Amino acid sequence: MTTKIGFNFSENTTEKRKIVIPEVIEDEQIIRKSLVEIKFPDVYKPYTYYNDSFNLKLGDRVFVDGKLEGVMGVVVNITYNFKIKLSDYKRVIGKADANVQGEFHFAGSHFLTFDPNALPYNKAETWFKAPEEDEEYVSGTDGSSFPLETLEGLKFDEYDLENGKEIYMENGVEYLELNGTKGRAIVITSKPYIVDFTYKNGEISELYCECYHVTPCKHCFATLFQLRETLKSIEQNYSEQYTKTNYFATILKGKFFTIAVDTKATGSINLK
Ligand SMILES: [Zn+2]
Repeated sequence: MTTKIGFNFSENTTEKRKIVIPEVIEDEQIIRKSLVEIKFPDVYKPYTYYNDSFNLKLGDRVFVDGKLEGVMGVVVNITYNFKIKLSDYKRVIGKADANVQGEFHFAGSHFLTFDPNALPYNKAETWFKAPEEDEEYVSGTDGSSFPLETLEGLKFDEYDLENGKEIYMENGVEYLELNGTKGRAIVITSKPYIVDFTYKNGEISELYCECYHVTPCKHCFATLFQLRETLKSIEQNYSEQYTKTNYFATILKGKFFTIAVDTKATGSINLK
């Protein structure tokens, strides 16, 4: 049994974002159109959405459009036998890719992998938000850089630096990847923000955040604190593994369990 969406959605609002569905979806499997009931945190009962983009199973973590856009929900019921008026329903627009395989090491609040295929940025991104319209980004650089180690001694805005430290302390940097010298982080405050940077010979350059505040913003600083912690952990415990691939990705433990473990009925963990 399905329940119609209980919201008074206005179809005519100034929706400017186009939904882009990934071209290759789910290994060429045929997508079965379905009505899915989705439970969201802090929402009493599940709401029903139309799905024609993903092969969904119970327990999958998904994103929808409409009022609850940006909030991750859990699929709690799926119906294939239905007839609906399409305009009455909002859609499933994103699904967290839970297909994670590889070795993850312990590093404080986070797990750490040196396998570039285990949890690359593109996969991790689906854990945090639905795909967005391809925006064109432009960035410029004056070529300047600063040392990561002595962050606090530099002439940065103290307010942003302190805020960034707070975000970092509260594990707001849920994902961080460093591929050679190119780094990328997903920082959660009111919503996920993506931070890009270059890290070379101990120096940070080309540091950008999508939040449109003056860079470096609090998300940037949070990222740098997390980067510093992770590099320290690698230096102390995993330098051999890191040298092999010159790559690491680190993910908040809780997030990892929510997506990569909780959604699975089978699989195994091998603790050493
Ligand atoms: Zn920012």
